[in-house]
Amino acid sequence: MRCDGLVAVVTGGGSGIGLACVRAFAAAGARVGVLDLELSGLPEDPGVLGVRADVADRASLSTAVAAVAEAFGGIDILVNNAGISAVGTVEENDDEQWSRVLDVNVSGVARTSAVALPYLRRSSSAAIVNISSIAATTGLPKRALYSASKGAVHALTLAMAADLVTDGVRVNCVAPGTVDTPWVARLLAGAADPTAEKRHLASRQPTGRLVTADEVAAAVVYLASPATGSVTGSSLPVDGGMSGLRLPAPARPAADPAESGA
Ligand code: NAD
Repeated sequence: MRCDGLVAVVTGGGSGIGLACVRAFAAAGARVGVLDLELSGLPEDPGVLGVRADVADRASLSTAVAAVAEAFGGIDILVNNAGISAVGTVEENDDEQWSRVLDVNVSGVARTSAVALPYLRRSSSAAIVNISSIAATTGLPKRALYSASKGAVHALTLAMAADLVTDGVRVNCVAPGTVDTPWVARLLAGAADPTAEKRHLASRQPTGRLVTADEVAAAVVYLASPATGSVTGSSLPVDGGMSGLRLPAPARPAADPAESGA
């Protein structure tokens, strides 16, 4: 789990899961470049360099990635974490939303990876970790566009892993369940009853609670660290058991009064 002497780049590292990754890499001995639209929440640490960049804009990524490589002497690890939300069915998200979310969540991963690869290829411990989601492999209501974007991140992880294995660049993804981050806080704030909605989200996960950002970050550092040098093309769920477990349904009052004996 140590990353001593390595340099990690984390997109979307200014908040939530990305910020937890920044702290976890720093604790594991790495220096960290943070590429985000918003950098105000970064820790005061000489080993953490924030550079404003938009994963939808190749020119800003090229400048930012070069700035991190110049400051820290190279890049060994890339975490493609920046992402945006979309709520709705296929009838509810318009073409503009589809273009925007796919551009950030999917093309953003490809774009940032392409810009970082010339640096990663020079590392003897090169790794890319993409942040996918439970939504990539499980049908969730009103997440059509978001699920499509994360399904694509999962597929892209496998394809990139195949393309890059002979270059010595490992590519894996982490698939979180619902994580307690500012993103989810924003979703809850828009719900009719935020407390009931949070309870509902927690109860979807067999552990009965939301995942923490630190738990996702630990999985990211694990997959990025040289300790997992033989792991590539994998997806690690960090979802409180949501994708893998089938538990008995909770007892519910019968819908038909005749069935309940009432
Ligand atoms: P968050 O909103 O707290 O943080 C996202 C960060 O990405 C922000 O700092 C934001 O400024 C940055 N960002 C957004 N668009 C960007 C762009 N175009 N260029 C650069 N930076 C940009 O969200 P989070 O909950 O930490 O989510 C992080 C990732 O984890 C996302 O990819 C999300 O899809 C994924 N994820 C989150 C959850 C969850 O429940 N929170 C679950 C599964 C997967």
